[in-house]
Amino acid sequence: LLENSLDAGATRLEVDLEAGGARLVRVRDDGAGIEADDLPLAIAPHATSKIRTLDDLERVLSLGFRGEALASIASVSRLSITSATQHAAHASRLELGAGGEASLAPAAHPRGTTVEVRELFFNTPARRKFLRAERTEYGHCEEVVRRLALAHFEAGFQLRHNQKPVLALRPCHGEVEREQRLAVLCGEAFLQQALGIEFEASGLLLRGWVAQPAFSRASADLQYFFVNGRVVRDRLVTHAVRQAYRDVLYHERHPAYVLYLEIDPTLVDVNVHPTKH
Ligand code: ADP
Ligand code: MG
Repeated sequence: LLENSLDAGATRLEVDLEAGGARLVRVRDDGAGIEADDLPLAIAPHATSKIRTLDDLERVLSLGFRGEALASIASVSRLSITSATQHAAHASRLELGAGGEASLAPAAHPRGTTVEVRELFFNTPARRKFLRAERTEYGHCEEVVRRLALAHFEAGFQLRHNQKPVLALRPCHGEVEREQRLAVLCGEAFLQQALGIEFEASGLLLRGWVAQPAFSRASADLQYFFVNGRVVRDRLVTHAVRQAYRDVLYHERHPAYVLYLEIDPTLVDVNVHPTKH
C-alpha cells in the first residue's frame, strides 16, 4: 500500500495499525488519487495503471506493475478505498461488502487516497491462524515502513499503532535532515560511526552510509540495500560487503550499512523475484 502511495507521487504517507495490522491497516496519502470510474478497476486482478506499453515493461520505474496487491488484499479482508483527484468535484469511496460486492459512493477526502484494510483474513481462518502475536506482526509492519522511509527521504512518514504515534518523519531536504532521519531509523550510534560514501563507475552509482568496524552488530539486522529506490535482498551483495569488511571485523560480527545503487532501469529485471526483493 505504501508503494502505491509513493507511485502516486505522495509526499505524506500516514499509516495506522491496530492489533499489529490484523484488525486495521490504514494508509492515507496525498498523492494523485484515483478517478471514481477507476476505483472498481483498481481492485480488479492484474489491472494496473503503471504499464501502458511494452516498453514500460522493459524499464519499470514504478514500485508496482503487476496489479495484484489490491485484488489480493480485497479477497481476504474488508477493504475500502476513498480517493480524490485534483480535478474531481468530490471524493469517492469504494467499499466491499461481506459477499465481495462493491459499492461506490461520494465521500469527503482531500486530494489523495486512503486505503483501509480491516479484519485481515476474516474469511480465510487457516491463514488467520498463521498470523503471529500482535507484537511480531507489528514489528514486520514497522520494518516495512522503516525500509521505505530509508529509500524515500523526499516523503514524510507517520506511523501509529493502536492510536499511539510511533514514527513521525518529515520530508527531508538536504543532507542534515537526511542524517537526522537516518539517526531515528538506524540509531544515533550508527550515524556517529557511519561514513558517507558516493562512488561512480561503469554506469553505476553507489552511495549511502557504511559503519566503521567499531560499530558492528551481533546479527545482520542493520543492512539495507536499495536498487533504484527498491528494497532488495541479495546474497551476492551481502557477501561482497562481508568480504570488504573481512580483515577488520571479527568473524561472528556483522557490518552495518545503508546502501543505494542507481543503475539503468533497463538493466534491472524486477520480475526475477516473486515479491520483487
Ligand atoms: P500495481 O501497484 O501493481 O499497479 P495495485 O493492486 O497495488 O497494483 O494497485 C492497482 C492500481 O490502483 C494501481 O495501478 C493504481 O492505478 C491504483 N492505486 C492503488 N493505490 C493507489 C494510491 N494510493 N494512489 C493512487 N492510485 C492508486
Ligand atoms: Mg501496487
